[in-house]
Formats: sequence, structure tokens, C-alpha cells
Amino acid sequence: MDPRVLEAMLPYFGSRFGNAASRSHSFGWEAEKAVEHARRQVAELLGASPREIVFTSGATESNNLALKGIFEAYRSQGNHIIIMATEHKAILDPLRHLERLGASTTVLPPEPDGLLDPGRLRREIRPETVLVSVMWANNEIGVVQPVDEIAAVCREHGVLFHTDAAQAFGKLSAVAAGENIALVSVTAHKLYGPKGVGALYVRRGVSVASQIDGGGHERGLRSGTLNVPAIVGFGEACAICRMEMKSEAARLRALRERLRDRIESCLAGVTVNGSLEHRLPGNLNLSFTGVSADALLMSLPEIALSTGSACSSATVEPSHVLRAIGLSSEAARSSVRFGLGRFNTEEEVDYVVQRIVESVNKLRSAAPKAGPNGST
Ligand SMILES: *Cc1c(COP(=O)(O)O)cnc(C)c1O
Repeated sequence: MDPRVLEAMLPYFGSRFGNAASRSHSFGWEAEKAVEHARRQVAELLGASPREIVFTSGATESNNLALKGIFEAYRSQGNHIIIMATEHKAILDPLRHLERLGASTTVLPPEPDGLLDPGRLRREIRPETVLVSVMWANNEIGVVQPVDEIAAVCREHGVLFHTDAAQAFGKLSAVAAGENIALVSVTAHKLYGPKGVGALYVRRGVSVASQIDGGGHERGLRSGTLNVPAIVGFGEACAICRMEMKSEAARLRALRERLRDRIESCLAGVTVNGSLEHRLPGNLNLSFTGVSADALLMSLPEIALSTGSACSSATVEPSHVLRAIGLSSEAARSSVRFGLGRFNTEEEVDYVVQRIVESVNKLRSAAPKAGPNGST
């Protein structure tokens, strides 16, 4: 979390610990004022009106509200939902839930570069299609979808479009709730805010059935006492991104390219997974031929790297995203995701390069008959 965000949040744990739903005293009013200020900050970064922002506990809940809420509200108009194979589990699992409730679903494969072909989407839309959900940017390979084109196809066919923008919000200036986008999921902890708070943008005029009832907070769409300090932090995090996003993107892209150039010039058998051109500035996902990514990560405990996504790193299956873009199970198991962020430096990048090169060489020379002591 950005220290400036923490600073903004602290008073709301102490002297300003009012309940934003309390209408009968100044402590409540103060909390409500803070929440509405944060709502404007989130709305501004998204190019939306504050009335279109529903605070939630994060992108998982926002995705659940979007998919289940639209399915329920538009059931009489159709039961068909289209998503992409590379979606986050927070889309895949709610969709599976809806299938059990009678939804008909289409899961579109990406092109080998990870992008969705809007023409392919157009061919899958049916009269009973009510919703298309395609993530703005992928959490594993960082690939940025042609969201404007996809949303335009949906508009053309009168289908609602939802995008999980958890990765792209606060990172790409292009992320905006344009007129063709009905719903957008975002979360604070991906943009240097606190964990456990996020939002769903619901365009004016779009109906969503609430999934959490009781008290009617957030215009009846999401009941429950608001987490005021977290919401204040989320707002502050958005305000900071709005100021710094552009220069930060350029800095991160340069760091990412330094990382990639140096690794590629020191090692053979390295491939980039997913489009390099249409990609989040701070993301790099590489396959190291002949190297087990798990063994590689194990040898670098001081570096926060991952295979697959952090949310599913407990599972043993190779990444469904890498499989969907055509990697063999073996290549998927040789892949590592590098994420660069606001607090990373050039020195850290150089350190990571050195450690990765050492470890990959060591693991490769130990194979194929690696014993408990490796090659050393
Ligand atoms: C992190 C992430 C989520 C989940 O967000 P939470 O706030 O942790 O619930 C959903 N989708 C994408 C693309 C993500 O990167």
C-alpha cells in the first residue's frame, strides 16, 4: 500500500470512526462525507458519475454481483453469457454457478497472443445472449484486450458488456467507462490501496439484482455497513493514480524492458508468453525451456515471483491461461510471472536478472539427472 494511502485512512480508524449510514449525528455525517469524497475519486479515475459506483469488498465480489446480478435481472430476456477462457477464477467460478441455475455459456478461446478476436465474438452472439464479460487486462500474462472494439460489438447487438478491470484500473489511462460498457469491476489493492475494498461500476439504466441484502446500503445493490477507512484509502489510491499513472507507466515499461532484455541476452530458451505490444507496462511472463518454474521459485525465496496467479498458487494444475494460449502443460510449468510496481527500482531489476540467470543455469545443468545436491 502506498504510504500516502495509509496516511489518509488512519483518522477513520480513530477520531473519525463514524458510521456512514448514521444520519442523526455529526460523526455519521463526517463518515458519509468521506465516503462520498472517495466515491468521486473512484468515479473520476473511471470517467463515471459517482452515482454509478457501488462499493464492494473487491473485484471477486464485483464480478459475482455483475454476473449473478445481470443473469437474475435479465433472465426474461435470455440466459446466454459469453466470456473468455483466460478470465480470472472470479469470473469462471460464478459462471459455473450460473450454469447450475440454467445459464447457457460460451467460453471463447484467445488467439495465440492472448487477444480476443472481436469478429469471433460477433459470431457467437445469439438472440438470447444477455451478457458478455471480457477482462480488460489479464492477471497472469498482462495482455490488454481490445475492449473498445469488443464493447462496440456488444452495443451493436444490444448485449450488455462487463469487464473485469482489476488489473488495468489505475495502470492504463485508456480505462474508462465509455458509453458501450455497462459494468466494470475494480479493486483497491491492485492500485496501492488496501485489501478488501473495491467497486462495481453500473451504468445508469442498467439493472442489477442485489446479491447481499439487508439495510439497503449502496442504493440497495450491496447492503452492509461501509468499510469507511478502506473506502477512503481506495479513493486516495485512485487520486494518486490519476496524477501519476502516465509517468509511472513509462517508468515501468522501461524497467520491464530492462528485465526482459537482460534475461534474454544472458539466457537461451526464453520465450515471452502473450502479446508484448498489447500488455500492461509492469507485467512480464516468461517460459524457461527445460526448467521447472516451481524449482526456480523455490531457489529464489527472497524474490516475490509466481507461477500462475497468486489466487490459485495453491493448486497443482498448470495455469489455465497459459494452456488457453496454446502452451503445452510442460511449457506452462516452466513459466514465471514477473510483476513490477510503483516501488520497484532499477537495482532490484538488475538483482533479479542476476539471480534468475544463476538459478536457471544451475537447474539446467542439473537436469536431466538432478539429484538432491543438484550440480553443485
Ligand atoms: C486480483 C483480481 C481479482 C480479484 O480481486 P479481489 O479484490 O482480490 O477480489 C479479480 N480479477 C482479476 C483480473 C484480478 O487481477
